[in-house]
Amino acid sequence: MPRVLIIEDDAESRRAIAGLFIREDWKVLEANDGDAGVELALRNRPELILCDLLMPKSNGFQVCRTIREQLQPTKIIVVSGRDYGVDRTSALQAGADEYLLKPITWELLSSTIDRLLPEIPRRLKPKSPAEGESTPARIRLWGVRGSIPVPGKSTVRYGGNTSCVEVRADGEIIILDAGSGIRLLGLALDKDFGPRSMKLTLLISHTHWDHIQGLPFFSPAYNQKNLIRVLGYEGARAGLAKILASQMETPFFPVSLRELPSHLAIEELKEMEFQIGNVEVRSKFANHPGICAGYRLFTSSGSIAYFPDNEPYDQLKLQLASRDGISEDEARDFATAERTKMVEFIQGSDLAILDTQYTDEEYTKHIGWGHSSLSSVVALALDADVRKLLLFHHDPNHDDEMIDKMVEHARALVAKSGKPLEVEAAREGAEILLGAKTPAA
Ligand SMILES: [Zn+2]
Ligand SMILES: [Zn+2]
Repeated sequence: MPRVLIIEDDAESRRAIAGLFIREDWKVLEANDGDAGVELALRNRPELILCDLLMPKSNGFQVCRTIREQLQPTKIIVVSGRDYGVDRTSALQAGADEYLLKPITWELLSSTIDRLLPEIPRRLKPKSPAEGESTPARIRLWGVRGSIPVPGKSTVRYGGNTSCVEVRADGEIIILDAGSGIRLLGLALDKDFGPRSMKLTLLISHTHWDHIQGLPFFSPAYNQKNLIRVLGYEGARAGLAKILASQMETPFFPVSLRELPSHLAIEELKEMEFQIGNVEVRSKFANHPGICAGYRLFTSSGSIAYFPDNEPYDQLKLQLASRDGISEDEARDFATAERTKMVEFIQGSDLAILDTQYTDEEYTKHIGWGHSSLSSVVALALDADVRKLLLFHHDPNHDDEMIDKMVEHARALVAKSGKPLEVEAAREGAEILLGAKTPAA
């Protein structure tokens, strides 16, 4: 039986909320002030806490901070009668997972609980066969193109928008890159959340324009109810915040980053391992001009590797050996060591979304441009025992037929290896479920 703790000084509203949960077979704990609530929470470790804001002893913000520090997995919903943007933001920043307005209905509560605690089955909703023991992580592709958006007839199947991948896992919404695809994601999120606030984490690989150009058109950034954390590493020439702001400065754009009404916090990453809620993230710098990172997300239903822009060292180092004053053997050793690190980093990924901008032939003319050739990426995925590879960051000059051919070539290479690697080209609008029995393409 799941447990909920209701921290609320008004006895009548506490009883009303308790009644909703009791009817749904929850075990209910009640506290009438902040301190008593914290004590009960630490002793009983409930799955969910509903907390008022204005209470004697510790207020709701203090309760959120204390609980968040000490009970990571517990989800906290602040329930308040105050509809001030600043309260909502402070509550989310203090560690609340959601902020709902009184009077509260079970309909709203249950949809919020479904999202925050997908593993808790609802008594009145029998489990459908499609629902497994845990909800699979859902990956949706909103932009799969490299360099520049290329709409038009020739790209209609795979899509013309630049890099943006949405990952929903373990109660988090993580967005990988803000290429032009993020515009459609924003509209979909608005529709999905309606009046509810969103808590999003945008993880930026690097600040080349094709990975940030959609941010000024991301509609959730224009609503003060939303909290958006933007994470990424410092750029080669300026800090992350400065670079993101500069593309929105006059005369490039009419609204500055500072003027966006949402609560958008830009945080420069310093560590190579960190958490986004319960999702563990590891980073590795890519071989790409400037500062560019790839990420590995470990969710409860599988792991995802994302390297939208990366060039393997093999041919590159050999070509540059004489310029760099090193022997061919030294160049080979360096490339082998770097490749081993890459294989280790993506080892065993359930899904790897990797830069395959060039065919093998094209690559010979683009050595040193910071992108991969098809066969080098297939070999990498095979060596790392990846389960499913998505060819990503399609060259703007590649039409749908060309991408079909690249998939065919990749599958032929896999067939020769005898390994069970699945290969597909990333397609705008495609959805992949991790941990589901039959992944949808
Ligand atoms: Zn790129
Ligand atoms: Zn780039």
